[in-house]
Amino acid sequence: MEGDILGNIREVINPEQVFFEEPMKNHTSFRVGGTADVLVKPTCITDIEAVIGWCEEQSIPYYIIGNGSNLLVGDNGIRGVVIQIGTDFSEIEVGEDNTIWVQAGCMLGKVANVALEHGLTGMEFASGIPGTIGGAVMMNAGAYGGEIKDIIECVTLLSPDGEVLILPQDQMEFGYRESIVSKKNYIVLEVKLRLEPGDVDSIASRMKELNAARREKQPLEFPSAGSTFKRPEGYFAGKLIMEAGLAGYRVGDAQVSEKHCGFVINRGNATAKEILTLMNDVVNRVEEQFKVTLEPEVRKIGEF
Ligand SMILES: Cc1cc2nc3c(=O)[nH]c(=O)nc-3n(C[C@H](O)[C@H](O)[C@H](O)COP(=O)(O)OP(=O)(O)OC[C@H]3O[C@@H](n4cnc5c(N)ncnc54)[C@H](O)[C@@H]3O)c2cc1C
Repeated sequence: MEGDILGNIREVINPEQVFFEEPMKNHTSFRVGGTADVLVKPTCITDIEAVIGWCEEQSIPYYIIGNGSNLLVGDNGIRGVVIQIGTDFSEIEVGEDNTIWVQAGCMLGKVANVALEHGLTGMEFASGIPGTIGGAVMMNAGAYGGEIKDIIECVTLLSPDGEVLILPQDQMEFGYRESIVSKKNYIVLEVKLRLEPGDVDSIASRMKELNAARREKQPLEFPSAGSTFKRPEGYFAGKLIMEAGLAGYRVGDAQVSEKHCGFVINRGNATAKEILTLMNDVVNRVEEQFKVTLEPEVRKIGEF
């Protein structure tokens, strides 16, 4: 993309928050992906509004990412601007009424620890999910019987035409791994969580137990994006993949984890193309064998 035009982005956001030709493998848990023309790390809502306004004016495409833990970025990178709503935008405040207000870039583990410190229960299920609260709202992330939707009071959003709106939980259109955020191309800015008073020791031991279960069952020693496929109704993706004989199936350095067949892992130097080929092979084999169509949970962005 035209370097001179992109260089002007430094006029709308602090140049220290702007990175050119940024390797996306440094920003994704898969450790895969070519370079983004520009990556910006906003520190406030004004930054986010300014960058989006500028991109719209210049007709430059932009993409929102959080911690990159549910993303597959193409080997040829991303043309345009990546807006990383991450730890630079992650303030957190505990209210007096069992609520926590948090900016979208805060990591779920941090929010869970703050809830624990304040004796608030409800967040334990999410403490080991390696994403931001913004990404979790967008995806309605869930684990161990809990979903983000269960603890949301309201969400502050930015619409593509620059309007800031606050939606209560029941207007967020939460479904399985989806919400109004993706349907309307909103950006999550802030989240207000409603938790319950609880016993600090019980909260701590539940978090410990769930995180131990993750370490035991999931291939956390390898880069991945968590569960690669959504759970098809009435089945478990990992079980179908295992029963199709695909445990350990490999394309280059991309592999179906032998520890948990629902995870595709990067054995070291996997490319996005290898991961995608492997995912397609898995979908085809499961479809042939069980007549069940697996849908990716991982989101693809960029040029493949
Ligand atoms: C080891 C491992 C375990 C995992 N376990 C689980 C699990 O148990 N349950 C589960 O649900 N997921 C799990 N995941 C997947 C992932 O962590 C979640 O989907 C998480 O919510 C993604 O958050 P993120 O900040 O990393 O988002 P990203 O991966 O950066 O982005 C995901 C999507 O959200 C959008 N997005 C991100 N931030 C915002 C924002 N502020 N506003 C609007 N859109 C935004 C992006 O555009 C993208 O479409 C796991 C991943 C890994 C690597």
